[in-house]
Amino acid sequence: MLYGVKDLRIEDVEVPEVESGEVLVRVKAATTCGTDLKILQRGYVEKVIKLPTVFGHEWAGEVVEVSEGLDWPKKRMRVRAGNSAPCLHCAMCQKGKYNLCENMIWLWGAYAEYIKVPARMVLVNMQEIPQHVSYQEAAITEPLACVLHGAEEAGVKLGDTVTIIGAGPIGLLHLLTAKKKGAGKTISIDLVEERLNVARKLGADETINAGKENVVEKVRRLTSGYGADVVIEAIGLPATWEQALKLVRKGGTVLEFGGCPPGTEIKVDTELLHYGEVTVRGAFHATPLHFKKALNLIASRTIDVRPLVTRKMTLEEIKEAFEILSTTKSEIKIAITP
Ligand SMILES: [Zn+2]
Ligand SMILES: [Zn+2]
Repeated sequence: MLYGVKDLRIEDVEVPEVESGEVLVRVKAATTCGTDLKILQRGYVEKVIKLPTVFGHEWAGEVVEVSEGLDWPKKRMRVRAGNSAPCLHCAMCQKGKYNLCENMIWLWGAYAEYIKVPARMVLVNMQEIPQHVSYQEAAITEPLACVLHGAEEAGVKLGDTVTIIGAGPIGLLHLLTAKKKGAGKTISIDLVEERLNVARKLGADETINAGKENVVEKVRRLTSGYGADVVIEAIGLPATWEQALKLVRKGGTVLEFGGCPPGTEIKVDTELLHYGEVTVRGAFHATPLHFKKALNLIASRTIDVRPLVTRKMTLEEIKEAFEILSTTKSEIKIAITP
């Protein structure tokens, strides 16, 4: 069954009790994410999240309870964790593909006063937040971790022209990351002018409003007719997955990053792969190492995520927040505080 923003409501639930190895955290900030909206509107992989439930997955907070015998973290420590923890011993983990773990533990429930962190997650995917980093910045560790993993797959090299379809939070994080990886020219594409303005502020060299301009023609024009070295799709629609393939140069790489609805198929011109030697890659989620790296990059402000929070709202206003996200598209991320 599919739900919608109209089904969102605030309910009183029991404060979770911690068992062996677990930690209870008081949520101080949780950020909104397109994935949360997608889950509400079109469902998601059942293994990952089953509705109805408390949701939200980008958060940071203060430790209020630690199960007996656990010597880290300490009470009152500022932490972030999740939203996943691989088992480390399945076939995928043994291949080093921790993000594809067959027995992944997922944690949802950030839009709440308290969140209980499972034992395995305390061990492999929980970090202390440095004092100078705000809770809302630390909450953005999760999407940045996913983007870092994607950026590795895309293999941006020094001087590359990188085209990014989508200037929402993920597209903008890809933009910031590509610039740090040495992109020579960055091109951001979106339908919403406010988002393109943010992209320009964050350093996009060129922006294209896909509602007003011919995207393929303009990217060709900006790349001397060849296409971009790397194209990153950060929306999650079959039309933009296919469009990405038309924007890349021969021998270039397309990273299909945005998750499409279950069962989606796209058309790929075989000539593109054969004569054009184009590499097409997907990327899903992140490994504990990416989470750790992401928090470090946020803390050093190597990747400054502060401009991505364009509005703050309270937990009571959660429904309104998602109405804004689903209708206006003008906010990048809303930080929710209980
Ligand atoms: Zn997210
Ligand atoms: Zn595993």
